Amino acid sequence: MAVKEFQAESKRLLEMMINSIYSHKEIFLRELISNASDAIDKIYYKALADENVNFDQNSYYIKVTADKEKRILTISDTGIGMTKEELETNLGTIAKSGSLAFKKETELKDGYDIIGQFGVGFYSAFMVADVVTVISKAFGSNEAYKWESSGADGYTIEPCEKDEAGTEIHLKIKENTEEEDFDEYLEEYRLKAIIKKYSDFIRYPIKMDVTKSRLKEGSENDYEQYKEEEVINSMVPIWRKNKKELTDEDYHNFYAEKRYGFDKPLKHIHISVDGAVRYNAILFIPEKMPFDYYTKEFEKGLELYSNGVLIMDKCADLLPDYFSFVKGMVDSEDLSLNISREILQHDRQLKLIAKNINKKIKSELLSLLKDDREKYETFYKAFGRQLKFGVYSDFGANKETLQDLLLFYSSKEKKLVTLDEYVSRMTDEQKYIYYAAGESVERIDKLPQTELVAEKGYEILYFTDDVDEFAIRMLMNYKDKEFKSVSSGDLGIDADNDTKSAEEETEHKELFAYMKDVLKDKVKDVRVSKRLKSHPVVITADGEISLEMEKVLQAMPGSQDVKADRVLEINVNHEVFNALKTAFETDKEKLALYTNLLYHQALLIEGLPIEDPVEFTNDICKIMV
Ligand code: ADP
Ligand code: MG
Repeated sequence: MAVKEFQAESKRLLEMMINSIYSHKEIFLRELISNASDAIDKIYYKALADENVNFDQNSYYIKVTADKEKRILTISDTGIGMTKEELETNLGTIAKSGSLAFKKETELKDGYDIIGQFGVGFYSAFMVADVVTVISKAFGSNEAYKWESSGADGYTIEPCEKDEAGTEIHLKIKENTEEEDFDEYLEEYRLKAIIKKYSDFIRYPIKMDVTKSRLKEGSENDYEQYKEEEVINSMVPIWRKNKKELTDEDYHNFYAEKRYGFDKPLKHIHISVDGAVRYNAILFIPEKMPFDYYTKEFEKGLELYSNGVLIMDKCADLLPDYFSFVKGMVDSEDLSLNISREILQHDRQLKLIAKNINKKIKSELLSLLKDDREKYETFYKAFGRQLKFGVYSDFGANKETLQDLLLFYSSKEKKLVTLDEYVSRMTDEQKYIYYAAGESVERIDKLPQTELVAEKGYEILYFTDDVDEFAIRMLMNYKDKEFKSVSSGDLGIDADNDTKSAEEETEHKELFAYMKDVLKDKVKDVRVSKRLKSHPVVITADGEISLEMEKVLQAMPGSQDVKADRVLEINVNHEVFNALKTAFETDKEKLALYTNLLYHQALLIEGLPIEDPVEFTNDICKIMV
């Protein structure tokens, strides 16, 4: 019998296919099962159009059988089958999709859709098989044909026997190589797992003869093995079900079954969109941060299905980084079952879906914030940091999206508040949104630089996360109110106080200049403080980088030596200042000692390291004796 060659371009494509297109060889099974499901769909459509054809749901199925000895894996279906011509055109020409043509010919009704449209899936069989044999009998025909190929060389077609309409694909599984194990594709447990993973929601039963064991008849401890036919797939996907019929428990089970996380999700979002792009999605907001969340092993993404068939485990393009904690899946009938991730990235439909999902997640989080504050705070504890990173990254491109989701601890409310809540409590005379950065709420409570703002009765937001100040710098303002650090030069609080400070500054110019000389490069300036009430001294920063930011930047691996411009502020209304004045007039050496002491005190209060602790303790001893 003459061997027919594949068409030239098919041959090249086939070679490419075998070697590269799919990264996971196991997906060959997904492709063949999808084709079988398509073939059954086609009978279903025929039945819709032709009353002589009857479609009895029970007689349509897909069956997977493995024969370990002969190394043959068979996928058979009771679908529409192929005529001799169809075998030639559909399987002889790569990238020729019979299913796509069928789709164009028939006006497809909603609900059912055909998966294949790319015309390359079938060839993935050659990734695991040396020889592929297709035995098929077309619906309504009396003849059956056998198509056979061992790869790029070509194929043969000859008549054969087959009782019922449908198709059987026999794969002669490759021998193991040093790098690769092909035996696994003959193992029952492995096949079951692959079917579950990719084809769980195919709407026809996928059957397998599964090995079981039972007590031998008449025996009490002698077991025998036997085979029993089992349906492997669950068929109706939860996301196609009516939301109203599903309970929280159903969603939780799905979350656990899918191993999205070990926690109980805080919230699920079930989306069914029937607009410009049609898709179903089930998304989850986890309760706890995954242990690997901030490691490089963590991969964001949603599972992506095309019409019930898994095409990607983690489709990263569906989630922005700031929502990377969201788990779940998306299924769309409008997505072409593309062959590679590269193509998928540019898919317009996918972009639309991503945009849609993004909006939905935001609105669901906002309603959680509004309706169930406690739950939202649990969420925020786990993932608030990620939202703040989101505000900061991409040069603030997403700050508008995220600003209303932020929470900060409030000095007045003693709990987390939104920016909107803060602004709504501002009085007319309050110009800024004040914040103070520090290690913990307790520490910030005691920071001297909060004194004036707090005394004025203004609310202060406490920034205890290292990313907070960076995010706020990016945000710049909220509802036209500018953010202001309690350490900043111009607090915009009391103009009289400001003039008075300026006068003091001039009056004690020489004293401050002397102190600055003592401290040399350690500080940029020594000044009169406008913000201190009861504390004698504080250290603040001039310019872009605050002291808290300096700490964060210094702690980063490979950090450049970034330093804030430090300013030592002196409270001229404090008794200590009198001592400074006296020392300036009578004993300069003492003033130098006092200056160093005050500087070190200020560092301690701020939680900054003291460069020379020995010098500091020696200084303390000096004033004691
Ligand atoms: P696609 O499914 O994207 O069209 P494939 O390479 O997977 O491309 O399959 C090529 C064509 O072969 C299908 O479009 C279909 O016409 C035909 N075909 C493949 N498998 C079967 C089958 N089990 N039953 C009937 N036709 C099939
Ligand atoms: Mg296909």
